[in-house]
Amino acid sequence: MKLKNGVEVLKIFNSLGARNNIYPTVIYDKKNIVLVDTGYPGHYQIIKEQLDNIKLSINDVSKIILTHQDWDHMGSLVSILENKAEAQQIEVLAHEADKPYIEGSKTPLKFTDEFVKKLRKMVGEYSMSKQQELNHILDNFYVKVDKALKDGEVIDICGGIEVIHVPGHTPGNICLYLKKHKILLAGDALNITNGQLYGPDAIYTHDMEQAVNSLSKLTNYQIKTVVCYHGGVYDNNVNKRLEEIITGELNELATKKALR
Ligand SMILES: [Zn+2]
Repeated sequence: MKLKNGVEVLKIFNSLGARNNIYPTVIYDKKNIVLVDTGYPGHYQIIKEQLDNIKLSINDVSKIILTHQDWDHMGSLVSILENKAEAQQIEVLAHEADKPYIEGSKTPLKFTDEFVKKLRKMVGEYSMSKQQELNHILDNFYVKVDKALKDGEVIDICGGIEVIHVPGHTPGNICLYLKKHKILLAGDALNITNGQLYGPDAIYTHDMEQAVNSLSKLTNYQIKTVVCYHGGVYDNNVNKRLEEIITGELNELATKKALR
C-alpha cells in the first residue's frame, strides 16, 4: 500500500505461528531503498514479490532497520542477506540496546530455548522444502548489526528518518519518524485492533511501565499517520488519540500498583 511517494507499507499474512497480518515498511528515494523490519522466518519470497509489485527490487535494498530484536521482526533478515546480489551492500541498523540480542551475544528476550523448541515443532507441519528453509533460518538466526542507532539520531536519506528510542517492549525498541510526511513507523510501540489505535500489548511487552512512559516521547511529534507492525495504518487524529492512550494506560498502571 502506497502511503506517500517513497513510502510503501507491505502486508503479509500467514506467518509461522501467527494468523495475523504484519506490515513491514519500505522507504525509498532515488539512491536508497530502506526496509523496516523483515517479517517472520520464511517471508523472504513474499517480501521479494511485494517489492517487485511496486517496481522495487530486493536486490537494491541498501539498508535494513530493525525496530527491535523480536523474532517476528528480524525473522527473514538472514535470508535477505544470504540471497543478496553480488554487488549489493546491505547495512543493518538497530538500536544499541538491542544490538547484542540481534547478534546473539545475549539470548533474545522471547527467543528462549523453550520457545525455539516450540517453533521447531511448528516447522514440522510445513512441506519438506519449507521445513528446510525454516530450519536453516533457525540455525543461522543471528545477524551482525552494522550500525548501532541512538535516540534522536536522524538517518539523512529519504527526507530524513529520525530514531525515537521508546524502551519497554524491548530495551532497544525504536519508532521511526519520517518528518517530511509526518509518518510514524511505530513498530510494536503501538498496535491497532479493530481499527482503533492502542498502546503496547502487555502480553508481549518486557517492561510495561517503561513502555507506557516511553509513549509520552511521541507526543513531541506531529503525527498524521501511524504504521503499526501489527495492525497497519491509522490516521484518525493521531496526536489526540495518543494522549488518550497515555492517560488510559497511566490510570491502569496506577490501579494495578494500588492493588498490589
Ligand atoms: Zn512484533
